Amino acid sequence: MFFKIIDKESIVDLYAGLAAEYDEVTGPKTSPKDPRYVKFGKIRDASQLRLDYKTSIVPPKKYFLAADERLMRYDRTTGEVYDTEPPLQTRALIGVHPCDINAILMLDDIFLNEFEDPYYKVYRENTFIVGVSCMPSPTCTCNSFGADEVHRGFDLFLSDLGDRWFVSVRSVKAAAIVDRYLDAREVTADDTRAFQERTKRFKKALPKRMDLDQLPLLYDAKYDYPLWEDIGKDCLSCGACSVVCPCCYCFDVRDTLSADGRVGKRHRVWDSCLASEFAEVAHNHNFRPKAADRVRYRFYHKFVGNFTRNGKMLCVGCGRCTTACKAFIDPQRIVKALESEDTPASAGTRKGGGAQ
Ligand code: SF4
Ligand code: SF4
Repeated sequence: MFFKIIDKESIVDLYAGLAAEYDEVTGPKTSPKDPRYVKFGKIRDASQLRLDYKTSIVPPKKYFLAADERLMRYDRTTGEVYDTEPPLQTRALIGVHPCDINAILMLDDIFLNEFEDPYYKVYRENTFIVGVSCMPSPTCTCNSFGADEVHRGFDLFLSDLGDRWFVSVRSVKAAAIVDRYLDAREVTADDTRAFQERTKRFKKALPKRMDLDQLPLLYDAKYDYPLWEDIGKDCLSCGACSVVCPCCYCFDVRDTLSADGRVGKRHRVWDSCLASEFAEVAHNHNFRPKAADRVRYRFYHKFVGNFTRNGKMLCVGCGRCTTACKAFIDPQRIVKALESEDTPASAGTRKGGGAQ
């Protein structure tokens, strides 16, 4: 990795370079439905980019694991199967926060290292990632999960130094983009100082780090605590927390047939372990019939199951689930409640917030 400095305005040149080299450029922009929110979408002009955003509604994982991915089409009358390959489109994804890049690295573990998913692999290999520094919002706990910093998983990373960007160049592709399209200069001692000060400001703005060392043990020890029943009463089983989570990766595979049943398509769609039918099997048996079972399962999977498997908790502390939950169910409060000696039954919920 090497470092360069570019002017703030050079983002226009970076956009132009990526637009010339890639089929599509995507990044954070103001939601057309509600200007208070930022969402990742197609960028047609550099002026659309909102690189100073707090948190996007849906994480950029949608570019690697689509919410609805066609796997194939078929004709039942001829037995023919077609369109089995993922579309080969190259993409530049600009403006990804450290927590979301860390979440993509977790998805890499699942979809590249543990099992090789051909769709995920094609999207990952054909996406150029530009990370961007951020400042924490009140719901962020990234530092508790070690996701406030990122050292790999991107091609280029832009740290905001006010009137200029401190550019970390991670890949050969990124070096070529810098060389071809950017008027970059060498880093001076002044730039290094400014970078260190920015990092200090960011770390100071983060919340107190939670001590999660005992968490997997606590989940096991308090598996039957009344806390879960209490949270279950509030949970609406809407699945919004999974939809917005950059680390959730469950999916369902479905077939959709034409009205006459002759042709159809097989596709995979995001699923949520909070949905009541998620653990339903034949004969109407449901392994997790109550909302309380499902909420506990979700947190157990994130903080114990995955941790036991590869030493990582399936959370980067982005805070999206806290904001999205209309029942005010907040993982931070659950962690604190489990850590407290008496674990009060109402500790998992909070008053206010939840707006999106
Ligand atoms: S967003 Fe809240 S209410 Fe909806 S499923 Fe998740 S925990 Fe339950
Ligand atoms: S569980 Fe919540 S805080 Fe953690 S990564 Fe998922 S959405 Fe973000």
